[in-house]
Amino acid sequence: MARQTAPPAPAPEIFLDWEIFASALEGLSALEREVVWMSVLNPAADADKMLHLDEKTVAATMGKAQELLRGRSDRWSADMLAQNRPLLAKTAAALAPKDCPEPKQFLRLLDGQITWRGRLEVEHHMTLCWRCVDQMCRFREVSALARLSSPLSDSAAEPYWTALGLRTAAPPLWKRLFGMR
Ligand SMILES: [Zn+2]
Repeated sequence: MARQTAPPAPAPEIFLDWEIFASALEGLSALEREVVWMSVLNPAADADKMLHLDEKTVAATMGKAQELLRGRSDRWSADMLAQNRPLLAKTAAALAPKDCPEPKQFLRLLDGQITWRGRLEVEHHMTLCWRCVDQMCRFREVSALARLSSPLSDSAAEPYWTALGLRTAAPPLWKRLFGMR
């Protein structure tokens, strides 16, 4: 994916410590976390469309997150989150898994093929685990990309599955994700 090959970003003017980030946003719901995380992963992404929210809700959620960060930080600036994007993304992806759901649970959630209880469990877990918020957002990106492009062949889809650690995903599930119903 493009962001993985991008040149290294300049060091942030104000360093946002991961502990501060995580503790400031502790009270956010799974969906609110996804809004914040989408902006961290890919500021150009249409977070509202990917999350099926309106633009106002996304803007309000970002405002809320900024206020929470401001309340926890000694030094704060409006673009502090933006400056720390690469660092935050790297840190979340490197967090140790702790009782994390199977990746296919995220796919099922996206696909609407999850039980009500399963959905609650995944969403609850995401309020405790930024690693999984990160995973879910990456799945949403791939899924949105797949909807925009023509269906991918098995070989074209392979790099995505490798990147997502999903080589073993059951074919029917990922074929559905890539529109090969
Ligand atoms: Zn997790």
